[in-house]
Amino acid sequence: MIIPFKISQLEVRHTKVKYIIIHHTACQYTNPDTKVDNMKFQMTGISSGVLEKKEPDINYHYIIDKIKEDFHVISCRPFVTLCDFPDINQDMNRKSIHVAMMGSYDFKIPHKRLIEVLAYRLLNPFLKIYSINPERILFHSDVSNNKDETCPGLFADKTIITSMTRRFLLK
Ligand SMILES: [Zn+2]
Repeated sequence: MIIPFKISQLEVRHTKVKYIIIHHTACQYTNPDTKVDNMKFQMTGISSGVLEKKEPDINYHYIIDKIKEDFHVISCRPFVTLCDFPDINQDMNRKSIHVAMMGSYDFKIPHKRLIEVLAYRLLNPFLKIYSINPERILFHSDVSNNKDETCPGLFADKTIITSMTRRFLLK
């Protein structure tokens, strides 16, 4: 599955990043391969979802996928462009980077190593480079105007994510 990049359909970011919004991939893509994270490289499931929805690119800037023994960050939509979430206030969306954990966390707790990789490789560098504090790390469910939205999952715990982020905070 090859995504034909449609750069003309992407909106360029003109505003400084102020928020990082956390998702699980089950919020956008229904392919069974994107609902449970396993040891396989699951980006083909995401790509087929993008093609089915006729999106110009993956609707997250980054996805963290477990591949074999460890979790890896996959760069998706370039972060100088915006993602497309009709349920998120557009002013907030213009200032946000969207990061997704592969799978669904409505039924299971995210692995500790997943949270470490998220904090160390993504959240921390973004907090540092954009001078934002950990309170600006938000869940999709915090900012959605759909009150039934559970993304990034009922078992995702923001306190754990922000405390892990503080642990790795670059001075
Ligand atoms: Zn989401």
